[in-house]
Amino acid sequence: MTQIVGHFIDGEVVEDSSRTQDVFDPALGEVATQVALASKDTVEMAIASAQKAFPEWRNTPPLKRARIMFRFKELLEENRDKICHLLGKEHGKILHDAAGELQRGIENVEYACGAPELLKGEYSKNAGPNVDSWSELQSIGVVAGITPFNFPAMVPMWMFPLAIVCGNCFILKPSERNPSAPLFLAQLLQQAGLPKGVLNVVNGDKQAVDAILEDKRVKAVSFVGSTPIAEHIYTKATASGKRCQALGGAKNHAIIMPDADMDNAVNQLLGAAFGSSGERCMALSVVVAVGDKAADALIEKMTAAMQSLKVGVFDNTDNDFGPVITKQHQQKVMGYIDSAEADGANIVVDGRNLIVEGYENGYFVGATLIDNVKAEMDSYKAEIFGPVLQVMRVESMEQAMQLINDHEYGNGTCIFTRDGEAARYFSDNIEVGMVGINVPLPVPVAYHSFGGWKRSLFGDLSAYGPDGVKFYTKRKTITQRWPSSGVREGASFAFPS
Ligand code: NAD
Repeated sequence: MTQIVGHFIDGEVVEDSSRTQDVFDPALGEVATQVALASKDTVEMAIASAQKAFPEWRNTPPLKRARIMFRFKELLEENRDKICHLLGKEHGKILHDAAGELQRGIENVEYACGAPELLKGEYSKNAGPNVDSWSELQSIGVVAGITPFNFPAMVPMWMFPLAIVCGNCFILKPSERNPSAPLFLAQLLQQAGLPKGVLNVVNGDKQAVDAILEDKRVKAVSFVGSTPIAEHIYTKATASGKRCQALGGAKNHAIIMPDADMDNAVNQLLGAAFGSSGERCMALSVVVAVGDKAADALIEKMTAAMQSLKVGVFDNTDNDFGPVITKQHQQKVMGYIDSAEADGANIVVDGRNLIVEGYENGYFVGATLIDNVKAEMDSYKAEIFGPVLQVMRVESMEQAMQLINDHEYGNGTCIFTRDGEAARYFSDNIEVGMVGINVPLPVPVAYHSFGGWKRSLFGDLSAYGPDGVKFYTKRKTITQRWPSSGVREGASFAFPS
């Protein structure tokens, strides 16, 4: 019988076979395991456990919370191979890519270990005569995180370590496509000493998400996933008074200026466009070349470099990238290549019909390069989320920037140039949340915050880092007076100043 990945509620793995879904090994194209899909009752059980754990956890000193997180970091490092293997098996990413994902997750745990410092608040002595004033960052209560398939370990760790050290109890609803790694993370955190109920994992689909959104005990929701779902979650969560941050999809452009170091740019673009099969919200999926000379050189060098890319299974680290997540997604990605071709773009390197020997049923798409893409094409407007790099040709940097500023998404972007003035103009005026200058994947480090603009983020606060602390706490400002003995002030009807 196939094993079922269950939930993690009140410190126990809860096996549940009432409603399940297949989880695939995308390289083999076969069912790897099954995942339980939580009912409303199961989600309510998890919320009740978190609610019960909250009073004691919120009063646990931040230093003690941080020590548990520090032990968790050590356990993550000790279990690196196992976690990377789970990621490779259910996502398909190559082990070196999985190790990078895990490391970025660990860095968020390291940031959370600074809880005593992060939660210090602010203090003003003598704000008035004998009056002191201070601000505290108080915990919120039960908070939830809903995460996508493409970073099954890192994105949950953008959320729960920080939320938990801020004194909250957390409900994680990971992607149903690769549930094993997030479940294992919860078990490790318990092993690190986390009291039961502080972190609960409910696996599931829309039913579980709806139960989270409808429950009044859940005070805040962090979401990462596609834009239509992000918008839906944000609208529904905020309508019922929950705090919400909902990070959505992307279409990340790189501008290649005529003065760019083209060999360097091509090397950078290879990894940024095709790494993780292009299934990264920061993947560079469009290159805008300024001038035909730059475009021709780019196409020539890129075409040559793409010949040596290796596509295959996760545990062969000679491979550069693996399959896409599902059969349906493979068809969708190839459908966009078909549509670009039908719209008159030029398929320079064609990744359709790639067969990987020994993995003939796997969901592979080869690296694809498309030239002469135009703004009105569907393949340009949409987030393809596959190993497809589209090239657009423009005559000036202003035209390139206009394209980016007009696009509905504003997650990441980058410019390749040797001209500091151009780079500064670009970063000042581009309507995108995360900007690289000769850096193709400008994913902020854990002590900054991650968030796009436009329809790549709904809400006011970005994920993790300083914005994460703000998101997972409520500010309370206290003003106190201890009058000197014997001093009595008369009534005053003027506004206190
Ligand atoms: P998705 O939107 O399909 O799913 C994300 C989560 O929402 C999952 O947990 C899923 O179970 C849940 N969900 C799906 N449909 C739902 C519905 N109708 N109602 C309620 N919940 C629902 O996204 P995905 O395919 O798992 O992930 C890929 C997407 O995530 C891409 O668009 C990518 O750009 C985006 N992403 C964005 C960021 C970012 O930081 N901006 C990071 C990673 C991924």
